[in-house]
Amino acid sequence: MAAAPSEKRSRKRSEKSVVVVGGGIGGLTAAALLAHQGYGVTVFDQAQVPGGCASTFKRRGFTFDVGATQVAGLEPGGIHHQIFTTLDIPLPESTPCDPACAVYLPGETEPISIWRDPDRWRAERQRQFPGSEPFWQLLQTLFQASWRFQGRQPVLPPRNLWDLGQLVSALRPDTLITAPFTFSTVGQILKLFGLYGDGQRPACGHRRLKTFLDLQLKLYSQVDADETALLYAATALGVSQAPIGLSHLEGSMQVLSDRLVAALQRDGASCCWATPWSGFTSTRATHWGDGA
Ligand SMILES: Cc1cc2nc3c(=O)[nH]c(=O)nc-3n(C[C@H](O)[C@H](O)[C@H](O)COP(=O)(O)OP(=O)(O)OC[C@H]3O[C@@H](n4cnc5c(N)ncnc54)[C@H](O)[C@@H]3O)c2cc1C
Repeated sequence: MAAAPSEKRSRKRSEKSVVVVGGGIGGLTAAALLAHQGYGVTVFDQAQVPGGCASTFKRRGFTFDVGATQVAGLEPGGIHHQIFTTLDIPLPESTPCDPACAVYLPGETEPISIWRDPDRWRAERQRQFPGSEPFWQLLQTLFQASWRFQGRQPVLPPRNLWDLGQLVSALRPDTLITAPFTFSTVGQILKLFGLYGDGQRPACGHRRLKTFLDLQLKLYSQVDADETALLYAATALGVSQAPIGLSHLEGSMQVLSDRLVAALQRDGASCCWATPWSGFTSTRATHWGDGA
């Protein structure tokens, strides 16, 4: 007779144990998926609370996000949706960000609004940056191809044969369209389209486009258009529109890690906060859930 899933889990737990160093969203997600598979999991984080760059702190009754404020991937098929479904935990309540961002260029009083609705955003950017549509269409094409590629879960960069297999199996003919742009930056493509705004073409507001992109990209990649890889920018600038879109979580970003921690607790993992990992000799620990 086949073993029940819970039996299989506890059998695997007794066989294999995993230590996850770092209780940010990445570590918590990996840990929760492993614990759900039945591995004995222990998470260490040097911080007092889980969540890393997506955690919060409280002052005078207010909750502040320490880093991340907006979430993508909550839509059906999105990465958080998939993970929460796999873990059998409810997705946090959320409110769509619309606009995802309102950008005030230096010296201007009207914002450029990055609307959730693709048609509304197209109309906005055509009004704000006349003549730039071919650039946006290229970004859109690259985004769609690389989003489908990312959805097939390639491992990048591949470090062993299994990773390479995952990477190759994620490739499709439409992925090839991204290949010529692998090493391009946004700045180079702006120049290619004559949109860099450096005076080579008649002044028609392209400097505003470059400034807008610099501001947006510094948010996502910490560098400006000249240094941001085009394929990364295509994704970063493309996720704001439906059917993907960005959301604010009800409560705060902490809800995301709290739900993952709840899944870890349920699946018998141990978490040690305020515990810098320094190898197997680490002793200072705040424990809960010694079920592993
Ligand atoms: C200011 C800011 C704004 C952002 N805004 C957004 C946003 O709006 N939307 C979005 O999707 N993303 C945003 N991001 C990015 C997002 O927050 C991160 O990509 C994500 O949270 C990273 O998760 P992680 O688990 O990979 O790493 P981290 O969150 O960095 O987690 C790593 C964890 O490891 C712990 N750690 C490290 N070394 C040790 C050790 N030796 N022992 C024990 N613990 C250790 C750290 O304490 C930390 O908790 C933002 C990031 C920043 C900084």
